[in-house]
Amino acid sequence: MKTIIKGGDVVDPVREVVERLDIVIEEGRISEILPSGELKKTGPQTNIIDASGKIVLPGMIDMHVHLREPGHEYKETIASGCLAGAAGGFTALACMPNTDPPNDNSSVTEFILRQARKADILKVYPIASITRGRKGEVLTEFGDLRKAGAVGVTDDGSPVTDSHVMRMAMEYARYHSLTVISHCEDINLSEGGLMHEGDVSARIGLKGIPSICEEIMVEREISLSRLTGCPVHIAHVSSAGSVEAIRRAKEDGLPVTAETAPHYFSLDHSAVIGYDTNAKMNPPLRTAEDVEAIKKGLSEGVLDVIATDHAPQSPLEKELEFDKAAFGIIGLETALPLTLRLVRDGVLSLPSAIKKMTCAPASILGVSGGMLKKGMAADLSIIDPEEEYILKEEEIISKSKNSPFIGKTLKGRNILTMVEGRIVWSRKT
Ligand SMILES: [Zn+2]
Repeated sequence: MKTIIKGGDVVDPVREVVERLDIVIEEGRISEILPSGELKKTGPQTNIIDASGKIVLPGMIDMHVHLREPGHEYKETIASGCLAGAAGGFTALACMPNTDPPNDNSSVTEFILRQARKADILKVYPIASITRGRKGEVLTEFGDLRKAGAVGVTDDGSPVTDSHVMRMAMEYARYHSLTVISHCEDINLSEGGLMHEGDVSARIGLKGIPSICEEIMVEREISLSRLTGCPVHIAHVSSAGSVEAIRRAKEDGLPVTAETAPHYFSLDHSAVIGYDTNAKMNPPLRTAEDVEAIKKGLSEGVLDVIATDHAPQSPLEKELEFDKAAFGIIGLETALPLTLRLVRDGVLSLPSAIKKMTCAPASILGVSGGMLKKGMAADLSIIDPEEEYILKEEEIISKSKNSPFIGKTLKGRNILTMVEGRIVWSRKT
């Protein structure tokens, strides 16, 4: 069965252009891409999807997701997280290792891949932990983890405090072609902190997390990358100082890459004023100046990737006093409209915004995809950039509903998601 996606404005994040094209899909792969209207006879066995007036994106890859399985299936499962991702326009997710048990050995990595195959919705790339039990002490078996299917390593949720352990991790990871992802936090500086340390935390009487607790570790990872020559990817950048440090590292030619999350360019610490626990995440929402620096970092290419840090929490963890509530928000279903807002505001062009969610994460993780080319898997989504809607809790697909954007008006929505030529999500209107 042949499928043709006709007349859509197709984003090419590699050449950074948008062109009106028809995409022909056969046996899960793109068999032809032609200027719209050039296609000759289609034959009776053809499924035609009309994408006119819509935008076609290469399947988005979210390189920072917490799928919570194994161990916390009441918050999210691999299947529910994949469905939420499909609804948001993603075709692949990289999942963090802070599960229970943590992904610190090949049997957990294999379990994750098995569950992903069973769910049969999106591609899932497991990220294993750097250290056993994520305790920061003993390295995991990188060779076994790679063989089992892990594509990167991180102790995300916690930093690797011991600089010697991180140095060894970088050296071994390079040898095994694993991407090192660093959660940058000096826990001695952040200890007991609940939100960004600044005028808002002082006013509302909550203990702060200073920006420097992130920046010190970003500087350390840059120094270790300089020493080892190993690439390092900085997770969830939230502060202006981190952006500056990464900018200097890139100017020095170091193999440092970085991501931020949509909440860091959409909200600032004033969101915490009503003690909304859905404004509590780690790193925390920072100042309006930090938000501007993050946007500038994105537009100038200092920040390579937009990833969600999708962190499902149930009411058990969130419907509590602010100081007792868990950190984290969901993000898979709001990343696209929040990123499109940057495009409308002139911060990024559409292709450069999409690049940060497609070919950029693919290249950092060393996985295929993130672009639409003849012969490649037909992983894509069709979006309506003009649709406005209010995010309703009951319409959220993720098992957890911890989003600060509930009740807010969003613009731009995914309509259809396809993985290897198969429709895995289509929104009923
Ligand atoms: Zn983290």
